Amino acid sequence: MYFYNLAILASPLSSLTFNFHADIKTGTIVEVLVRNKNLKAVVISTCHKPEFKTNEILEISEFFYETKQMELARFISRYYVCSLGEALALMTPYPCSSGCATSVAPTTAFKPQGATKVALPKSSSITLSRKQEEALQSLQKHKVSLLFGDTGSGKTEIYMKYFEQMSALKKRSIFLMPEISLTPQMETRLKEHFGEAVVMWHSKLTPLQKRKALERIYDGSATIIAGPRSALFLPIQNLGLIVVDEEHDDSYKSSSRPRYNARDIAIYMGKLYNVPVVLGSATPSLNSYVKFPHARLKGGHFSSNKEFVYERSVETLSPLILKTLKETVEAKEQAIVFLPTRANFKYLICKDCGHTYECVFCSIGMSIHQHSRALKCHYCNFTQAIPQVCCACGSGNLTSSRLGTAEAVKNIGEEFPSTKTEQFDRDIITTQNKLKKALARFNNKETDILVGTQMLSKGHDYHGVTLAVVLGMDNMLNMSDYRAREKALSSLIQVAGRSGRKKNAKVLVQSFNEEFFSTYVDDYQAFLEDEKTYRQELYPPYKKLCRILFSHKNGLKAKEQMLKMQEALQSFSHVQIVGFGKCGIERVANKYRFEILLRSDKSTDIIRAINACKVELAEVDMDPIEFG
Ligand SMILES: [Zn+2]
Ligand SMILES: [Zn+2]
Repeated sequence: MYFYNLAILASPLSSLTFNFHADIKTGTIVEVLVRNKNLKAVVISTCHKPEFKTNEILEISEFFYETKQMELARFISRYYVCSLGEALALMTPYPCSSGCATSVAPTTAFKPQGATKVALPKSSSITLSRKQEEALQSLQKHKVSLLFGDTGSGKTEIYMKYFEQMSALKKRSIFLMPEISLTPQMETRLKEHFGEAVVMWHSKLTPLQKRKALERIYDGSATIIAGPRSALFLPIQNLGLIVVDEEHDDSYKSSSRPRYNARDIAIYMGKLYNVPVVLGSATPSLNSYVKFPHARLKGGHFSSNKEFVYERSVETLSPLILKTLKETVEAKEQAIVFLPTRANFKYLICKDCGHTYECVFCSIGMSIHQHSRALKCHYCNFTQAIPQVCCACGSGNLTSSRLGTAEAVKNIGEEFPSTKTEQFDRDIITTQNKLKKALARFNNKETDILVGTQMLSKGHDYHGVTLAVVLGMDNMLNMSDYRAREKALSSLIQVAGRSGRKKNAKVLVQSFNEEFFSTYVDDYQAFLEDEKTYRQELYPPYKKLCRILFSHKNGLKAKEQMLKMQEALQSFSHVQIVGFGKCGIERVANKYRFEILLRSDKSTDIIRAINACKVELAEVDMDPIEFG
């Protein structure tokens, strides 16, 4: 009889011991009975016969995780503080083909991966400009590097050239991109050049499409695997390169357990598999800019054909905006209207001078809590009464109202009945097909004005846009988030980059902070340099943050657990408790929420403290990007 420690897939349980009559290799997926349920589990190690009675493994599957996947799962489990089973559940296993993981598992129809079936590029090789060539060579000198390339500077060609070189070496590449920018245009571009060697992997695939894609990954005929964060966890042998496009994008961070960041996992995988990692962006995160060497690729003349106009007012369709929209449509040209995704919070802003309220301890925006009629800092829980008059200009004109996309579409429609305006956000564009169709209508000029959120700014190519209206920038700039400045500025640059691709364009920005935006809109690098000073003392990349959440139907219970852990954490001198208390969003899905925010110089100190003090209900969010 053999005994095994098993991790239950997708379960927060720690490992359980089972027995079996034959030898099973580590990494094999098996089936077991736990509390009268058939569950999938993974063999993590063999062990001695325990004191207690064990159950027998029911079945051995024909899939397994190979050594490096197991190692990656161990890293995720340790760093993001989740079970091994939860970490392994992120990954797609290998089929037991030749050299199966166990002597008793059945054989399958899959052929082993090899280099024999690698499809070659369809068209002739990509020619890079001298600048692009230099950038590529500089990237190739480093294990992890940043391609800091302006919109339109030709980043994609550089990636494609690198993929091509990898294919020639019979190696495979992962091309990560944010889900939202898996544009039809990018797919067409990759397939035009690489043909069948490209496999697109994303959540909108049908089960049949998914199976076909997996077969081509298993048999090795796919050499470029493109997709959002789940593409990292596919069973790819002979990996040669990982590219993370739009590396600054928040959608790389998972908002459920395990709360990993795919960009950071890609960097870890680079080490684990000994392959280069390229991070790319026109507006890189300060994190990557500080940590990795970069190749700078300056774009087509970004602002030379763009006129930036700033209007000092709060989020509304002002007479100036309506007039400019009218002129654009009358000239038979097109416009995009950008509204940042509405945060879950309201911020207080003075309609007359644009003043907003910041926490004196954290230098970040405070948000309104209606229940307690107070302004609150989501980091340290500092609270103050909602003021009646603006403390900067004395005006009583304080507001927290915000315009939504649907409302903006309706208002524009009422103002210009003959104009075709469409809403372009997650509420309307729910499928890949709807995205394709909306983009086609816009590019065929069936739509005059597109009103949308962040989705508008992600990698889509609009040919005829001569006006970009950007609303709500001050709300973004004043979010209770240490990255508010980075997010607001990069959004503006990304949106502006969608207009004037062929002709001159106007970018109309509604903001009281013209000085900030106009200083940096043309020089993101100068912003990054200045932002270093702001972050140095308190925030990443110089400090590590970790948020611990406690949520329960019984609010008292959640609070008790939070306090218990907070008290225990006090004995760890290397870990600072920034704040603790109710979450910004006090209740979600009928559960009351509490939190603790930690800061430290090193993640290892935080992980050690958490493992020593962890209580029931504690959910860990390492390197958090949301503070609601
Ligand atoms: Zn004011
Ligand atoms: Zn604070």
